[in-house]
Amino acid sequence: MSARHKKAASEGGPQSAPAPLGRGVPAVFLDRDGTVSEEVGYINHISRLQVYPWSAEAIRKLNQAEHRVIMVTNQSGVARGYFTEELVNAVHQKITSELAAHGARLDAMYYCPHHPNGKLKAYRIDCQCRKPLTGMVEAAARKFHIDLARSYVVGDSYRDMQLGFNAGTRTILVMTGYGRGEYEHHRQGWPRMPDRIAENLLEAAEIILGETGRAGAAAPGDSLTSQPL
Ligand SMILES: [Mg+2]
Ligand SMILES: [Zn+2]
Repeated sequence: MSARHKKAASEGGPQSAPAPLGRGVPAVFLDRDGTVSEEVGYINHISRLQVYPWSAEAIRKLNQAEHRVIMVTNQSGVARGYFTEELVNAVHQKITSELAAHGARLDAMYYCPHHPNGKLKAYRIDCQCRKPLTGMVEAAARKFHIDLARSYVVGDSYRDMQLGFNAGTRTILVMTGYGRGEYEHHRQGWPRMPDRIAENLLEAAEIILGETGRAGAAAPGDSLTSQPL
């Protein structure tokens, strides 16, 4: 994990229930742009943030079922000099408050500000957190004692699906953001298909709850051991 990797101040923690001994808890890792909020290119100003109207309900349902809900987002616009980490944090604070107004909560928000060809030297590194690499997921898995085999990655790009494949989670591609275009025009070239396709984040949440029920309940195909993270 890069020392420059940062987490938003809104990260949950004290309110997290302790995990059962010897077994991790399931989590849902959410991409941000095109999954929780509208894909608008880079969000280089707070006014460009548009949280999808169904996102709070989707996340609230996952909260109620005791899944950890964790955002993982590439924000290479920081490395490219398009916007600052302060802007990223402001966007995440606004997402947090909009979700809270509807009774929904993210347990943590991770972002990768790096890019190997970034304009700003401080961020120009080959990091381990830029999706589809697993640094953000692994950091969350350690912190929250997550069982990745019982967890999901939900996103609108194939890169998110590759993150899930690399981390050993299940994967759901949403048709919002870049999702429909990626699926319709590029899936022939994909070496591996997403596990499921969903119209949007709310349908993805319903699929997850249908497959797993509450986090404490056993699901078909459950591993008896947690991931060695
Ligand atoms: Mg996206
Ligand atoms: Zn990174």
